[in-house]
Amino acid sequence: MSDTTTTRLTRPAVPASDSRPGLSGLGQGVLEAWLQDHGQPAYRARQIRDGVWRQHAQTVADLRTLPAAVRSDLDAAFRADTIERDEVAVSDNGLTEKTLHLLGDGALIESVLMHYPARAARRTSAFASTGRGAPTAEARTEHRERHTLCISSQAGCAVGCPFCATGELGFGRDLETAEILDQVRHAARRMAVRGAHLTNVVFMGMGEPLLNLDRVLEAVVALSDPERFGLGSRHVVVSTSGVVPGIRRLTALNPQFTLAISLHAARDPLRDVLVPLNRRWPVAEVVAAARAHARITGRRVSYEYVMISGVNDTDLDADALGALLHGDLAHVNLIPMNPVAHTPWQASSPQRVAAFAARLRQAGIGATVRANRGQDAGAACGQLAADRAGEPAAPAVAHRREEIVRQSEAALRGDRSVDRLPADLQAAVDVEPAPAARGSR
Ligand code: SF4
Repeated sequence: MSDTTTTRLTRPAVPASDSRPGLSGLGQGVLEAWLQDHGQPAYRARQIRDGVWRQHAQTVADLRTLPAAVRSDLDAAFRADTIERDEVAVSDNGLTEKTLHLLGDGALIESVLMHYPARAARRTSAFASTGRGAPTAEARTEHRERHTLCISSQAGCAVGCPFCATGELGFGRDLETAEILDQVRHAARRMAVRGAHLTNVVFMGMGEPLLNLDRVLEAVVALSDPERFGLGSRHVVVSTSGVVPGIRRLTALNPQFTLAISLHAARDPLRDVLVPLNRRWPVAEVVAAARAHARITGRRVSYEYVMISGVNDTDLDADALGALLHGDLAHVNLIPMNPVAHTPWQASSPQRVAAFAARLRQAGIGATVRANRGQDAGAACGQLAADRAGEPAAPAVAHRREEIVRQSEAALRGDRSVDRLPADLQAAVDVEPAPAARGSR
């Protein structure tokens, strides 16, 4: 059972140990097989799914359409909710809700719910959306109200991007499918109380989704399944920092959800530092895989680009990005860096971001400047979880900053990194992606 609190969540001294799988993460057929084994009719599966996905059940006792004996057996085998407790921080006058979730083993993960009120499209955003010429028909229409949830796929992250609080935390573990989906159910439950619903789900929270690909795919299937969450595939965005075999595997599945690439630099020396995974799969390989994905699926690829003052925001960087994506079915989202402790960097100024966007558009690349959300609520990915992990020792912080400065200065001179990948990232990328999980597609 979970509850929502405004008091500070911390890791329990003795984490609970509960190996029962979460109901929301059960693949097609698993529930039916369990019901058959327990002498129950097949329609009970629909009753359970309705309870989990329409009533957002927190406990098996909430599944009131089931006989008491079935509830008892179900409770012995499964958890109705894999999240123990939530701590919600609201900011931006209620437009951003950041949630810290406590999982059964004491891991802390984050999700962010962002509300976008309905508004009429501005002419400038029409140019921004196409990157050229007159506003499109789509851009002239009103934007409907949107409620976008950003979710985590791992507790911590092995990629170690130096501008990211999750990267500094390091890797904890992969999330189970139900732990991914229960973030969505928790937000949907809060929305339902207000008579509203989620319109978009993006995998841009803690973790590298393509290093937990089987479970992320199972989660995407559940989100778009009309019998479960029922969200249109095109309203789901899966982001990656560039796990090329994972992108190829996705392409082979021909998914209709949106692929986003966390690019952050178009030049290898700099990307080696900003996204260390680049030392394994360099920019050209990542973009080639994304280009093939766009060609085969017909879906435009989003490129995310965090703007860091004096590091990756120069005209040279804009021109390199323009040349890299020239002619591609692609769109760039420019995001001023969130303030993160223990980095020597600042966000680019609004003027620099606007100039960078204009230069991209001149090169024929669509670009949108994304507003920073929830800075007063610790909006940066992993910031709340890092806060609860405690302040690292001062020498470790000083060493980290020196390393970032050393690496970025070398990169800005054009030198490629000779540094090894962090051990846990090396271990993660050495594992050949497994074939698609049975029943995940
Ligand atoms: S930005 Fe994404 S990939 Fe990079 S460390 Fe943070 S969570 Fe991991």
